[in-house]
This record gives sequence, C-alpha cells and structure tokens, in this order.
Amino acid sequence: MANNIKYFIGNWKMFGIPGSYKILHKINSFFNKDKKNNKNYKIIIAPPLTLLQNFSQKLKTGKIYISAQNCYHRDAYGSHTGQVSAFMLKKLGIKYIIIGHSETRASGETNDIIKEKVRIALKNNLKIIFCIGENMKQKRKKQTMKILKSQISKVVKNKFSFKNIIIAYEPIWSIGTGITPSENELEKIIHNLKKFIKQKYRLNFSVRILYGGSVDKYSVSGFKYINELDGFLIGGASKSSKNFIDIIKNFYK
Ligand code: PEP
Repeated sequence: MANNIKYFIGNWKMFGIPGSYKILHKINSFFNKDKKNNKNYKIIIAPPLTLLQNFSQKLKTGKIYISAQNCYHRDAYGSHTGQVSAFMLKKLGIKYIIIGHSETRASGETNDIIKEKVRIALKNNLKIIFCIGENMKQKRKKQTMKILKSQISKVVKNKFSFKNIIIAYEPIWSIGTGITPSENELEKIIHNLKKFIKQKYRLNFSVRILYGGSVDKYSVSGFKYINELDGFLIGGASKSSKNFIDIIKNFYK
C-alpha cells in the first residue's frame, strides 16, 4: 500500500557554506508556487552539521524541513571529541536525521552502533531516515533481500518505532554511479520489503520506503510509476536547486 505524501529528501553530505542557502531559498520559492502539487509532497534537506542551525532558523516559517546526517551513538553530553548527540540536534530544532548511510557504515559503523543511534534518536523524538542497501557483490549473489532484511532486523526492535522511521533503500552500487535498478526490480524490492516489515512487526499501517541512488530528472520519470514507493533520497542532484526542482517537476508531469 502506498502512503499519500511523497518525500523528496536531499543529502548534501560534505557540501555547502552559509551562502549555499540560496539553493534552499530557490527550492522553497518553487515549493510555495507549486500550488497544484505541493500538498502531496514533503521536502527535507540534510546539510552538513555546520549549517544546521543557520538553515533551520532561516526556514522556521517555511515548508522545507532540515535533517541532520548523523549523530553519535551514546549519551546526551560526554567526552566524545568531534561528536554531536541526538539530544543536541533536537535542542537545535532539528526534526529529521539520516542514520545508517552506506558512507557512514563504510567508515566502521556496525549494525549495533546503528541500533543505538536509532534508539537514542527516537528517544529524542527525531524522525529517522534509516538507510539500508546491498553492495554489488551481494547483488550478484542474489542476496539483496537477505541483506536488507538482516539490516532491518538487527536495528529495529520495536514495532512502534516504525511510526517515526522512514526506510531509504539505497543500493550501494547505485550511489553516485549513475547506475540504477530497473523499475521492475525496484518495484519488487519495495513490495517485498513492505510485506516483510508488516508481517515481522505486525504493523497495521504501511511503512514508508524511499529509494536512493543516482536519482535525477530522468530516472525519476520511470520510478514515479512505482505505486508503493514513497519518495526519494537524493545525493548529487540535491546540491543544485535546478536539478532538485526538475526531479519534483518530472515526478508530477
Ligand atoms: C546518497 O548518497 O544518499 C545518494 C543517494 O547519492 P546519489 O544520489 O548521488 O547517488
């Protein structure tokens, strides 16, 4: 089953300075003018840590939400040089957080660490964009569903958590490569994932699942026909207001 609201989430990774607000400003203006469709979707942008406060204050009255890209897996405060807690993000007024991105997993983040991050972020009332995805080797061995199920089961322990968790299916082989799964392939994965989660956690609602990996104005034109897909996590194309807006325009064309 599909949810009504679609999500367009931009992950800026290590990009942006205060002047990059002009990108958000343009996206916000587009959103405000897009009266025909803007009740049907939500825009969330995840800038780097250095811009979270600046951008969320500027967007206070706007309709675009700001997300963090990560947090530390322990404590509200503590001796953890260079880290930021979910508590500190919440106090900044942040509503969303990306957890488990393949790039943070690649730097040593285990399922156990991700589980702790999810637990603490939920405790601090943050909404989580939880990334899962298989690598090319696993895909070739036809292990995709096994990997995705295991990434979910090892992290999400409580069925109620899914009210505040959005899953982002991001095949690692697709991130930043320009290669995407076929529409059929993606449709099947999203369908099976929703079915798996609903059964395993005995949910009486459909969990939100997004796709991420080389989404642009071209690939979105095919993906928009996947009824059960609830939106997109967009990396490279979210750093340009034009590319990001073109994705939304093509989705509703
Ligand atoms: C990402 O890193 O979350 C992502 C989806 O990147 P890209 O769109 O550039 O493939």
